[in-house]
Amino acid sequence: MNKKENILNLLYSELVDYLQGLREKTYRATQIFEWIYQKGAWTFDEMKNLPNEFRDKLKQKYQIKPFQIIKKQISQDGTTKFLFQLEDGEKIETVLIPSSKRTTICLSTQAGCKFGCNFCASGIGGWQRDLSTAEILMQVLHAKEEAKNHKNPLSHLVYMGVGEPFDNFKNMMKSIRIINDKKGLNVGARRITVSTCGIIPKIKEFAKEGLQVELSISLHGYDNESRNILMPVNRKYPFHELMEACREYVKETNRQITFEYILIKDVTCTERAAQALKRAFKGIICKMNLIPYNSVSEFDYFAPSRQEIYNFQNRLEAIGIHATLRMPRGQDVLAACGQLRYK
Ligand code: SAH
Repeated sequence: MNKKENILNLLYSELVDYLQGLREKTYRATQIFEWIYQKGAWTFDEMKNLPNEFRDKLKQKYQIKPFQIIKKQISQDGTTKFLFQLEDGEKIETVLIPSSKRTTICLSTQAGCKFGCNFCASGIGGWQRDLSTAEILMQVLHAKEEAKNHKNPLSHLVYMGVGEPFDNFKNMMKSIRIINDKKGLNVGARRITVSTCGIIPKIKEFAKEGLQVELSISLHGYDNESRNILMPVNRKYPFHELMEACREYVKETNRQITFEYILIKDVTCTERAAQALKRAFKGIICKMNLIPYNSVSEFDYFAPSRQEIYNFQNRLEAIGIHATLRMPRGQDVLAACGQLRYK
């Protein structure tokens, strides 16, 4: 039997190419995109303005297949964590984060993760495979529907779930194009954030894409030695080379970078760390996002106290580093940063 391709893998231009091959009108591509990405159709039969014969042709070649939702957990703070099953049995987690001003989705890009940061649950089960463009987008479609239960519609996307977006660059970029496309999900580039553990060649490639998408770097270490211990990827892409790549990125794109920085008691929020960060951030316009360590049972780390967190934040501000605090969301359902994992 012919395996049907998932239509969510297609850019608008690729769908137009396919339609031209069939000698169909190209405005049909707009109609199909609107049905899928704006009106929330899960089947071709719902696309009432497409002629029957044409729908049949589409159905022969393509499918739109929602994920099987294995589990949906809702935190006391409204954060919702999904466990989805993919067609081949792989499972992924996706998080919807509602707040008073916006609703955000945290997307996974791989089943599992290769990078083994030693504070993050996502790397514990290893890496299974990359997600397709369709599998990245399907998370958004499910979340968009779920967001209807909240005050604000889905408006912001962060590529901060399981996996490394820059290790699945092609599919990630394609998903961003469709999310950003006016005919697709029509989400402004500035509302999309991609986070990387620091794959230098891909940071350079990303700079050349010419999008206004936000870039976050998971820094976590304050110098080469501390980062080697926390993030094995630092052995391949060392601290100072990463900072240099970030400087180039800012210069080339004229965009700011956000550095994510985990606060681990007695490890990353010491006076020594603050001083090292001051040296490292010389000459780079950036913002820091401090993430208090969320507990992962396999690791022997602790979160600093509230007072320690504020002291460190004030310390950074005093030496000229603008640092915001990311308060944990969804901890009670293990949906906070670093708690998502391969199951
Ligand atoms: N691989 C990408 C995308 C994942 S983002 C990256 O590393 O950027 C997930 C974010 O949560 C990263 O900043 C990650 O370092 C952070 N994180 C991981 N484990 C954590 C934990 N236990 N507590 C708090 N934040 C954590």
